[in-house]
Amino acid sequence: MLRLTKNGIFCPKGDFFIDATGKVERNIVTHAHSDHARPGHKSYLTCKSSAPLLRSRLGKNINVQIIDYNEILSINGVKVSLHPAGHIYGSAQIKVSSSGETWVFSGDYKLEDDHLSVPFEPVKCNVFLSECTFGLPVYSWPDQHLIYEQINDWWSFNKSEGITSILFGYSLGKSQRIIKNIDHSIGPVYVHKTVGKMNDVIRRDGANLPDTITLDENANANEVKGNLIIAPPSITSHRLIHGLSPLSTAMASGWVQTGKYFGRSKVDKGFILSDHADWNGLIKAIKETNAERVITMHGYTEELTRWLNDSGIESMEIDMLKHRSFDL
Ligand SMILES: [Zn+2]
Ligand SMILES: [Zn+2]
Repeated sequence: MLRLTKNGIFCPKGDFFIDATGKVERNIVTHAHSDHARPGHKSYLTCKSSAPLLRSRLGKNINVQIIDYNEILSINGVKVSLHPAGHIYGSAQIKVSSSGETWVFSGDYKLEDDHLSVPFEPVKCNVFLSECTFGLPVYSWPDQHLIYEQINDWWSFNKSEGITSILFGYSLGKSQRIIKNIDHSIGPVYVHKTVGKMNDVIRRDGANLPDTITLDENANANEVKGNLIIAPPSITSHRLIHGLSPLSTAMASGWVQTGKYFGRSKVDKGFILSDHADWNGLIKAIKETNAERVITMHGYTEELTRWLNDSGIESMEIDMLKHRSFDL
């Protein structure tokens, strides 16, 4: 049904790609993160709530066809539908059925309800292609509400000391999840312009996201003193930040659990918060699909594949970066 090619996953019968690289005619996109939604394709198919994000990131003039979650489309005789992945706003798994066989391509997913994206729905299938970014048993997420409380406490304490709090998280997904779930009665929440742009896109699409103030490039320390600023990790050493001290910096990421992030960027504090499934989440999701065969990709494929095979679920790993072509 699906084939790995140099441009990514391809369905020969339906003549379409999924999260393709390079330039292809027809590309189905799981979600608007840049490692999945790439520019240059002739036409895109994506979930209705993902389309405004896709246009915002790839340009207004891209050719996008939209469908709702669970709506079935026939492409050259292959049935295609999109199902909630719970990863970020508008994210989808892609179900492909033909000749009595069903395959599901997970894209990125998580099982917790972040109150912003439609929660993950397991989809029954014969073959499941699963991401496994955090496919090691050491990754086991604490209850997300505990993490939001830790963020609130850190911010409140800093505020009482006259210190400004900067929390780093991806501009699309993590930032909005934090904004949605923290306690806004503590004070105003400022956002870096890249986060503000994504906030505006999903608000226009109808998302119920609390108010934020987009940080002016020339903001001075007094203006934001004691408040919370949410910014992408890419600006951890940006000059914007140096002018805002006294500061406390923090990172919200799944990598915090193994301290991986602290090596790369100097932050004062870490919060374990990921938009990907942890080890137990991956296994739960995989089992719920009832798949006879699981193809692992993106992340700790070797470990998860070995565990699945040892547990009696046939599994193989693929490396998208090796650019080899074969039927899956
Ligand atoms: Zn993603
Ligand atoms: Zn990804």
